Amino acid sequence: MGVRGFAGPESGTWGTHVRAQSGPAACDKLVRMDSPRERRAAARTIRGVRARFQEPARRAALALLLALPAAAASAQGGLNPALPLTHLDHGPNSAWAEAQHYVVLVSLDGFRWDYARRDHATHLLALGRQGVWAPEGMLPSYPSVTFPNHLTMITGLYPEHHGIVANHFYDPARKAHFSMSDAQDVSDGSWYAGVPIWSLAESRGMRTACLLWPGAEAEIAGERPTWYAHFDEKTETSGQGEQARIDDAAALLRLPAEERPHFIAIYYSEPDREGHEHGPDAPETRAAELKMDALVGKLKAALDATGLPIDLVVVSDHGTVRPEGGWITLDQFADLKGFETEGALLYAESEDDRARVYEELKRATSQFMVYRLRNVPAELHYNANPRAGDPVIVATGPYAVRAHAPADGDSKPPAGMHGFDPRVVPEMKASFFAAGPDIVAGKTVAPFENVNLYPWMAHMLGLTPPKNDGSLNILSGTLRDGGRDDGLDAGR
Ligand code: AMP
Ligand code: ZN
Repeated sequence: MGVRGFAGPESGTWGTHVRAQSGPAACDKLVRMDSPRERRAAARTIRGVRARFQEPARRAALALLLALPAAAASAQGGLNPALPLTHLDHGPNSAWAEAQHYVVLVSLDGFRWDYARRDHATHLLALGRQGVWAPEGMLPSYPSVTFPNHLTMITGLYPEHHGIVANHFYDPARKAHFSMSDAQDVSDGSWYAGVPIWSLAESRGMRTACLLWPGAEAEIAGERPTWYAHFDEKTETSGQGEQARIDDAAALLRLPAEERPHFIAIYYSEPDREGHEHGPDAPETRAAELKMDALVGKLKAALDATGLPIDLVVVSDHGTVRPEGGWITLDQFADLKGFETEGALLYAESEDDRARVYEELKRATSQFMVYRLRNVPAELHYNANPRAGDPVIVATGPYAVRAHAPADGDSKPPAGMHGFDPRVVPEMKASFFAAGPDIVAGKTVAPFENVNLYPWMAHMLGLTPPKNDGSLNILSGTLRDGGRDDGLDAGR
């Protein structure tokens, strides 16, 4: 028995080919899967015949993939050893999961909403034309930095709810600091709240893979992805490491249907790195964007070659802006003695200190607003988690704010920065492009908050998301089924 999705060349629709084989004469049956209900029916068909075939074939395919030497890997379509993957044996896809479509989610760090058109990123623009895109950008959650937004996109929760309120922050209750640069912190699931879409899928018997997505190295909501990679900067930024994410995605999708991950997340740190160093308008940043665009083109071709019903979603976490002026250093306006600090986040032991520093900073400058935590404006969704500190500083423009100057002397802000409120600094807006069997063709969407990606991707995978801050209504117009037929995994 083999089960494989394919793009119907004549009809232009997507379906699953269920081949029930008993002996040399095979009986082919085409099950079109235009709707989730039909996918459920296909799952029932599969369930009946799969058990006889899955275990030996699965183990043999996995052994082959893992055993391939480096040189042979890409030639034979195996995993690329330039990005070592951890594989956890979670067993095969459930029969229900096997009949669902596939979602490949790619994040290009710092790929500002207007870069694609500005620099003629042909592959991204083609993806948008084939499916949907946000010509005016997608709204990152506050603060517009990497870890908070990657966790938001895969949990549907604002940072104050999933708990990763900054790349680096302090937890007053734990009396401990979290840093995205600390391998132990990022792999410690106790820092994270919410249910990542891979955990949701795994809990429903659907296999997943994360090729460097923030949070993927931790057990969150009791689950880990079946496949994941350890983040290290050298691998992440190497040409081989970049190619490996494409090779690995393609190789994983060529596994037998029982094994294939239905959700794959892929992360790239460019063009953010060049953007920080050289600024959003620099030739280096433009070159990095176009390199990422070319990788998206390669990935799209590799995904198309699988013939599987794959929705490809390419996003970014935030944009970039050239900051105005030099550093604004909070301890020049207020006595921060006794405060824990991280960046511009402030944590005091006593209410007296919080109230005092609030009063001192209120009078400091028009370049930032200072709020008591509970009074941070509701639209920022940043007033409920003590990890955000108290008082809270919010820049009123592209101004670089920090609590203290570093001990090793003063420095200029980087050429490109982010973290600002996208409603105040529109350069913070992120990118959104998507196309595939579940997505309508040739549609654009107005700026929307990135919390809404979660219920939308869950819907495409047939998963019922837990309560979250997003709503399927926001992007339902981009779905071929209009977002109807929710609760798809109920009958699994
Ligand atoms: P930002 O300046 O907020 O855009 O942060 C971008 C940086 O986050 C990248 O250059 C990486 O160094 C870092 N980063 C991205 N993903 C991870 C990860 N999974 N683990 C640790 N650091 C990461
Ligand atoms: Zn980022």
